[in-house]
Amino acid sequence: MQNELLDVAIIGGGPAALSAALNCRQRNKSVCVFGRSLDSSLLFAAEKVDNYLGMPDIGGEEMLNRFYAHAVKNGVEFKECRIRQILSMGDHYMINANNEFIGAKTIILAVGLNKSIGIPGEAEFLGKGVSHCATCDGMLYRGKKVVVVGENEEGEAEADFLADVCKEVIYIPLYQPVLNLKEGIAQKEGKPKAVVGKDGKVAALELADETISCDGIFFAKNTAPPESLLFGLETDGKNIVVNRKMETNLQGVYAAGDCTGTPYQIAKAVGEGLIAALSAAEEIDRRNRK
Ligand SMILES: Cc1cc2nc3c(=O)[nH]c(=O)nc-3n(C[C@H](O)[C@H](O)[C@H](O)COP(=O)(O)OP(=O)(O)OC[C@H]3O[C@@H](n4cnc5c(N)ncnc54)[C@H](O)[C@@H]3O)c2cc1C
Repeated sequence: MQNELLDVAIIGGGPAALSAALNCRQRNKSVCVFGRSLDSSLLFAAEKVDNYLGMPDIGGEEMLNRFYAHAVKNGVEFKECRIRQILSMGDHYMINANNEFIGAKTIILAVGLNKSIGIPGEAEFLGKGVSHCATCDGMLYRGKKVVVVGENEEGEAEADFLADVCKEVIYIPLYQPVLNLKEGIAQKEGKPKAVVGKDGKVAALELADETISCDGIFFAKNTAPPESLLFGLETDGKNIVVNRKMETNLQGVYAAGDCTGTPYQIAKAVGEGLIAALSAAEEIDRRNRK
């Protein structure tokens, strides 16, 4: 990918992201969609969609493929990956795409429904011992004791990375089988109940029948809460807070689709994607006039 800053980086891969991307291209902005595979969009699971104007009786998969083809035909680049962290650099943002850092002037978050059910203390101690990305934050725990909670096998890679950095790593899988864990990483069964803090930072992870003292807890989730992507992003606990221009509380960051709240519908996602794209394009044009 180019070293130049992208005009717009879109995180997601469903109708909101693809609509935003298409409309960015129509305003002649450089754009890349950073999304997980198309089949991870909720739309993919819809057997039949009957309330999208002009496309009666269409299957969700076919609809998504049409959205994708339309966007790609208009010059949208799609990079299949899961974004774990976006850093603010002052006048632009850096996206960590599988440890490749890509700069963008503006960001559109179209990450879908927040399905991450946090345990008590998880949100409170985010950035104070709780993390959702080992490669982003692992170095802060050099020589320390950490727990990794894995909802899927990506947790094993997180734990393996941390094993090279930390004094002790304990892995708690919430799935089976565990296949690729480095030697020396202790495995425990159990369901996390709460993050326990002391003096404003993480002190332990509470399970049903034991409490593990630790300096950090890494959650490898199927879906991470949006505020873990971008420090300081305002949410109402579940949804990203936006205004009618789809602006978030962060300059140059917009959100669209299910991640901004109900109704969870394709037409809303597509419409909000359009508005977010127009707002991002307007912001870029404003900066270029300066
Ligand atoms: C069974 C079913 C039937 C439905 N039927 C209808 C219907 O008939 N009519 C209707 O209007 N709506 C329907 N919906 C709802 C509709 O599918 C959603 O409202 C719509 O898909 C929302 O679009 P979105 O782009 O906001 O989110 P999604 O389509 O969920 O897309 C979000 C995408 O972002 C990706 N992503 C998330 N985090 C990251 C990250 N960190 N890095 C990279 N990618 C990320 C996800 O993997 C996903 O691909 C249905 C939903 C379901 C489940």
